[in-house]
Amino acid sequence: MHRTLTVLGWASLYSILVVGPLVLMLIGGAPRARGFWIEFSMALGFLGLAQLVVQFVLIARFKRVTAPYGIDAIMYYHRQVGTLAVLVILAHPVVLVIHEPAMLSLLNPAGGNWASRTGVWSAIALVLLVLLSNFRRPLRLSYERWRIGHAVLAMVAAGLAVAHVALIGPYVTAGWKFAFWTVFVALGMTALAYPRLILPLCEKRRPFRVVEVRPEAERVWTLVVEPVGHEGLRFEPGQFAWVKMESPFSIDEHPFSFSSSSELTERLEFGIKEVGDFTRTLPAVQPGARVYLDGPHGAFSIDRVPSAGYVFVAGGIGIVPILSMLRTMIDRGDRRPARLIYAVRSLENLAYRDDLEALRLRAPTQLDLVYVLEQPPEGWTGETGWITRELLEKHWPRERITRDVLICGPDPMITSVDSAFRHMGVPAARLHAERFDLV
Ligand SMILES: Cc1cc2nc3c(=O)[nH]c(=O)nc-3n(C[C@H](O)[C@H](O)[C@H](O)COP(=O)(O)OP(=O)(O)OC[C@H]3O[C@@H](n4cnc5c(N)ncnc54)[C@H](O)[C@@H]3O)c2cc1C
Repeated sequence: MHRTLTVLGWASLYSILVVGPLVLMLIGGAPRARGFWIEFSMALGFLGLAQLVVQFVLIARFKRVTAPYGIDAIMYYHRQVGTLAVLVILAHPVVLVIHEPAMLSLLNPAGGNWASRTGVWSAIALVLLVLLSNFRRPLRLSYERWRIGHAVLAMVAAGLAVAHVALIGPYVTAGWKFAFWTVFVALGMTALAYPRLILPLCEKRRPFRVVEVRPEAERVWTLVVEPVGHEGLRFEPGQFAWVKMESPFSIDEHPFSFSSSSELTERLEFGIKEVGDFTRTLPAVQPGARVYLDGPHGAFSIDRVPSAGYVFVAGGIGIVPILSMLRTMIDRGDRRPARLIYAVRSLENLAYRDDLEALRLRAPTQLDLVYVLEQPPEGWTGETGWITRELLEKHWPRERITRDVLICGPDPMITSVDSAFRHMGVPAARLHAERFDLV
């Protein structure tokens, strides 16, 4: 109930922040009406700009904002709503030009006057921002470079848009209205400083030290850290943290899920797969190295979905948050039944098998483990291939209790497993997934 109210509260605040500025522009006398389409186009511009500013706050990792939804859901929402904001902003000149074709000449980035140029440049920055976000991989742009470029383009676009609003004039002739937009946009941009400046200052006082980096399977490692001079970090099983090596101000920070039990706060473990620049450096990290954590984040946790039992579905490195949930259940003496369906390519990729088997022995009630190998070795008697609907139906628990399903793995796997469960009649509200792919 409390969570539903919180979600509703934030959703209402979001709507007020997006629509409120437009309503403010009408207070104290709107300019002389210039026809429906012109005023409609202005409204689109203001709505789009307000939505853009709210994006800065959305991605600033304020825990109060992200906690009810989970930061991955917020990032997903940011992608969709950010694109919508850009389309709304682009519709502003399009409507104007359709209504008055003579205005087309003002869309020349080098022509027109400062009022039009600032608007056109802002729109160009926004189009670039959307293109780079959608084509980052084909363009082979590293995540870090893309992220810096994304923030700079967003700030440039918002700054130019405010200049455009001021220079165009009619709605902000009252000084307080221009001041409002300036402060509104500046506050939005300041929010971006929160994860870059304020959070790192807090993290600096709570460093961690690497205890060991242990191999688990082919290209999979466990990073073990312990707090230095503080009591550690409390988290819910299934959550994750942004990990930074050496400096809390490093822009090279990566989200990794805790693999350890949330009952142990003084020795934290992360399961990490080597996939690129950062993760490939992990095996060379020496014990004693400093680590800084921004977390916990995320809503993918059994603590958020109280249920009579669970079915976990993991693909590859997606096992990490699920392992944390299983370890926590056992440490808590949780008697609810759990079943894990865990798919990997080959036996060499089957990380944490020994740990899972040990958990099965310690489980106070039933913990079922189903391994699925895409390329099984000779003599393998377990499941093979991919996780299909047939396989899920075969292993769906028969007892008459309601179970929640938690899925983590590669994006295509999550999509197909989610769809298979829906076809099996599992209600959408009982299906929960965590995607490791934010962009
Ligand atoms: C909520 C969440 C939890 C995750 N948990 C785990 C985990 O437990 N174990 C694990 O091995 N991996 C996990 N990941 C994925 C992990 O963050 C990336 O594999 C890692 O950041 C790759 O960095 P790289 O420089 O080695 O590879 P790169 O080649 O630079 O990146 C590979 C891909 O990882 C993603 N990525 C890279 N850097 C970042 C970043 N700073 N922030 C967000 N995404 C990034 C991008 O999609 C990129 O295309 C998780 C991701 C998310 C979003």
